[in-house]
Amino acid sequence: MQQTGIHIAGRWDAGATHIENRSPSDVSDLIGNYAQASSEHLEEALDSARKAQNIWWAAGVQKRHDVLMAIGTELMNRSAEIGELIAREEGKPVAEGKGEVYRAGQFFTWFAAEALRNQGDLAESVRSGVEVDVRREPVGVVAIVSPWNFPVATPAWKIAPALAFGNAVVWKPANLTLASAVALTDIITHQDIPAGLFNLVSGPGRDVGQRLIESHRVDAISFTGSVSVGRGIAAAAIGNMTRLQMEMGSKNPLLVMDDADLDLAVSCAAGAAFGGTGQKCTAASRLIVHESIHDAFVERLVEAAEALTVGHALDADTQLGPVVSDAQLQQNLAYIETGKAEGASLLCGGERLERASDGYYMSPAVFSGTRNDMRINREEMFAPITCVMKAGSYEEALSLANDSEFGLTAGIMTQSLARASHFRANARAGCVMVNLPTAGTDYHVPFGGRGASSYGPREQGSYAAEFYTVVKTAYVAAGDPL
Ligand code: NDP
Repeated sequence: MQQTGIHIAGRWDAGATHIENRSPSDVSDLIGNYAQASSEHLEEALDSARKAQNIWWAAGVQKRHDVLMAIGTELMNRSAEIGELIAREEGKPVAEGKGEVYRAGQFFTWFAAEALRNQGDLAESVRSGVEVDVRREPVGVVAIVSPWNFPVATPAWKIAPALAFGNAVVWKPANLTLASAVALTDIITHQDIPAGLFNLVSGPGRDVGQRLIESHRVDAISFTGSVSVGRGIAAAAIGNMTRLQMEMGSKNPLLVMDDADLDLAVSCAAGAAFGGTGQKCTAASRLIVHESIHDAFVERLVEAAEALTVGHALDADTQLGPVVSDAQLQQNLAYIETGKAEGASLLCGGERLERASDGYYMSPAVFSGTRNDMRINREEMFAPITCVMKAGSYEEALSLANDSEFGLTAGIMTQSLARASHFRANARAGCVMVNLPTAGTDYHVPFGGRGASSYGPREQGSYAAEFYTVVKTAYVAAGDPL
């Protein structure tokens, strides 16, 4: 595998500058040196994408289906190998890495069939002798900017619909996870596709990413990452009237009601709070617990957190890998101090851990006695830290859950159908989970949130067509055949 972060106009490019990526589990483990794109690379990528897009669209649905099916099948077949690479460079346990790659494959195979289902509408015209049809056409050149936490699955759920509907792609992945980006690019670009249809332009977000999203030669931008970067992207996109879709921060609540199955509640809360080392946009970061079971729940949650094995991502018994970088670790530890200073009680964890290798290890933390106006309950921490709040009633719990600028996922643990149904209807969130963790979504249905969590049309499932296609309404007067 070539260690370059640039693939443009159908070729790998060695680049002039490089960055070194190391494993967060063991900083002595050098993963590779990755090329960084210049502004000339970016312009060439945009040129070649424009040309290739026309060829790709003209190639037709069977071709697009076959290519996407081949990409998806290869990802699934190689999920063990690429999953291990993700574990090594991002720090999630190997099983999670493998699962991510397999799911990335499922996005491609699902959208392969979606290419065949690109069906339009026919309408009767209000004028006699006129026929009306409505079709979906590609948007054109799509810029994709993705984060490090799901370095293969997140780009996959953007790239697959972009290609399925006949678009070209210029992808700027997170610089922290370029081994995964190169692996995915290799699988896509060794298919029989027009040169330049798919381009990888690695580099710092504030430099290459900024230039990409500011380019008037981009027709649509799909971004996943932080709210602050998202705000800047929105401002740039509006200047060019570029179509925009963004998935950003979250502060997902999980309600634990007095009638909940306590074992299930603890396992859903711990899994959703600490899975992926808490670095998931769907993580359960606010646990809103009915006061009558609060103490029993908290005691068992702390036991569950303390029982988790924190270690090297490649060790078979590791349940929690390191956090992704030193900067993320320092930010997490600072949030622990913030929580204490705000008056929350740290019941366990929140400390840097030493392991056999030099990595960014941290013990999972549970805060109790928190209030919803504390910074630890308002800001996305992206850390293995969860905050428990007490509620006296379901109504109070629902009101706390909805009191957030974010609204990605929201969960409730209850055996009451009435409460579950009320919560499903009244939770201000894009995804609602009943007796399930807040994290964990299917690949064939829409994903997204409300408020500051999302902007623009939904991702995934048949709803993805809204973003990756433009609608054309045609009026045809065929005239008299005689
Ligand atoms: P960022 O929003 O900084 O980065 C996401 C992507 O955007 C990366 O590819 C990044 O590039 C790129 N980027 C950064 N600045 C710009 C810019 N000005 N123009 C265009 N692209 C840009 O998130 P981080 O990865 O730094 O994580 C920081 C925090 O963001 C986390 O702690 C978490 O709170 C949140 N986050 C949320 C995610 C979610 O799914 N909800 C996912 C990831 C992060 P590069 O990193 O290479 O510089």
